[in-house]
Amino acid sequence: MLLRDAHNRIIRDLRVSLTDRCNFRCFYCLPNGEPPLARKDTILTFEEIERICEIFVSLGIEKIRLTGGEPMLRKDIEVLIKKLARLKVQSSHKSQVPSQFEISNFKTQISHSAFRIPHLKDLALTTNGHTFPPRAENLKRAGLDRVTISLDSLQREKFKEITGVDALPNVLQSIEAAQQVGLTPVKINAVLVRGRNDDEMIDFARFARERDVKMRFIEFMPLDSSRVWDRNMVVSSKEIFEKINRVFPLKLKGQSRGAETAWKYDFADGAAGEIGIIAPVTEMFCGACSRIRLTADGQIRTCLFSTVEHNLRDVMRGGASRAEIIEFVQSVVLKKEARHSINSENFAPASRSMSFIGG
Ligand code: SAM
Repeated sequence: MLLRDAHNRIIRDLRVSLTDRCNFRCFYCLPNGEPPLARKDTILTFEEIERICEIFVSLGIEKIRLTGGEPMLRKDIEVLIKKLARLKVQSSHKSQVPSQFEISNFKTQISHSAFRIPHLKDLALTTNGHTFPPRAENLKRAGLDRVTISLDSLQREKFKEITGVDALPNVLQSIEAAQQVGLTPVKINAVLVRGRNDDEMIDFARFARERDVKMRFIEFMPLDSSRVWDRNMVVSSKEIFEKINRVFPLKLKGQSRGAETAWKYDFADGAAGEIGIIAPVTEMFCGACSRIRLTADGQIRTCLFSTVEHNLRDVMRGGASRAEIIEFVQSVVLKKEARHSINSENFAPASRSMSFIGG
C-alpha cells in the first residue's frame, strides 16, 4: 500500500519539523524570531512522532528528514533518532522475505518487490550547525545517516549579518565533525540572495571541491516571515550554473532529477565534491514532488506553499485507531496540490513561513 496523490505521484519523503524555534535570525527566514510560537502542549511528543513516522513508513515513506526551526534545539533529539532508526531495522527481517530459492519455485511471475517489507532507508537531519559539533558522534551512534548543514557565507562578518549570529567557526567545525563521524555525504545548503551573498558562488564551489561536500544552492523562495522576498532578489539556477561552470566546468550527473529537488553536477576535472542547484522559483519541479511535511505541532502540509493544513495531531490525540490514521493520511495526500503558484499573478503566500513549516 503506497501513498499516491491525485496526480499519480508517489510520496516517499517525509520532512518532520521538531520545533518552530530557531537560534538564528536569518534575514530570509525568521529575522525577528516572530511569535506566535506553538504552545508547548501542542508540540508533538517523541512518542507521537515515532507513531506517525512508523505509520508513514508502512505506507512507503523511505526518507525522513528532521528539520525545523532548528531541530537541535529539541532536547534529547538523540532519543528520537534512536526510536526512528528502528524503522530501518525491518529491512533485516529476512525471515519474512522469501529466499531466492522460494521465489524461483513460484511458477507465477511474482516479482521480488512484491515481498518488499516497507522500511526506512534514509534518516537525515537539517541543521544550522550551531550546537552540533560535540553531539555529532552521539547522533551517528543513535542511527542518524547523514546531515545537511546550512551555510550562507564563508566570510565571518557576512555570515553574522545574514544569520544574526557570529557562528561561522562553529558551523565549519560542524562540517568537519559530521565527516569525521561518518554522517556522510555531508550536504551544505546555501540560499543565494542577490546583493547579499551571490558574490560567493565560486568560493562555495571551491569549498565543495576542497572539503568534499555536496553543495546545494537554493533559490530564495517567498517563505520569509518578514515578507521581504522580491523576484529581483532571486539568483536563478541558470545564472548559478553559468557562473560556476565558467570557472569550474560541471558535468550533469543524470538526465533527469527524478524525485530529487536538485540538478546535480560533478566537477568535470574529477575533483571531489558536488554541486546541486535547487530552483523552485525559476524551474519548478512540482511534477516530480514526492514530499510531504509534518509541522512540529502535528499538522500535515502537502506543499511548502500550502495555504491549508491538516490536523493529524488532533486526529491522533482524539484516540483514532491505526486504520483511522491511515485513512486520514491517505485522504490528505489526495489533496496534494498539483503545483505551487509562485509564478502566477494570484500567488497567495503560504499560511506559515519556512521556519514554522520545516524546510
Ligand atoms: N534550522 C535548520 C537550518 O538552518 O538548516 C533547518 C531549518 S531551515 C528552515 C531549512 C533550510 O531552509 C535552510 O537551509 C534554510 O537556508 C532554508 N530556507 C529558509 N528560508 C528560506 C527561503 N525563504 N528560501 C529558500 N530557502 C530557505
